[in-house]
Amino acid sequence: MPYAIDVPRMPSLPIIGSPARFPLRRIFCIGRNYADHAREMGAPVEKDTPLFFCKPADAVVTDGADVPYPQATADLHHEVEMVVALGAGGRDLTPEAAGELVWGYGVGLDLTRRDLQAQAKAKSHPWDVAKAFDHSAPVSALVPRAQATLDDATVLQLSVNGELRQQTTLGDMVHSVPEIIATLSRLFALKAGDLIFTGTPAGVAALHRGDRFHAELVGVATLDGRIS
Ligand code: MN
Repeated sequence: MPYAIDVPRMPSLPIIGSPARFPLRRIFCIGRNYADHAREMGAPVEKDTPLFFCKPADAVVTDGADVPYPQATADLHHEVEMVVALGAGGRDLTPEAAGELVWGYGVGLDLTRRDLQAQAKAKSHPWDVAKAFDHSAPVSALVPRAQATLDDATVLQLSVNGELRQQTTLGDMVHSVPEIIATLSRLFALKAGDLIFTGTPAGVAALHRGDRFHAELVGVATLDGRIS
């Protein structure tokens, strides 16, 4: 059966050490998953009610492409985050079962139009315009789980123009990866191809045209790019 318009391109991520690509279905994000970042935003950490939002899959920027400075903002912020890719799905999972869905890991930026987010918060509006805009999700190549060595001491960090802006260890996450996936699975039926941004530590700040960023999940994945 023909489609009435051209079929949109399937968003996908490269995979380290493989010519295959990882096709993307949905992008889920958790907010306030590092206490020091919640504090810098003046927000409480609510262990029992994690904050989730989504980005469209076609917001990813991959393969080292420039990130165009977005429209409608004068305060584009970086949030460096570990990214988890799911290779299988499920609903209403235990954390033990949820952890088994992980296909691989990467590092990404949850780019945020901070001025629009402040307006949304003030008006109790949703965060879509602050978070789900075009090109709002630069992500590295993925590393399959079997080839990734990471634990609570693994360092997540971001430099901009050679200056360290954000740095933490994964042990500082409020909700662990299995907990995040299990909680999401009680809200949505998760499927293979889903991507999860797992939260950012303190140090979020502005990006400007011409800035070069270097994000790293040390020993696992790196992401280099430029705001154009
Ligand atoms: Mn974030």
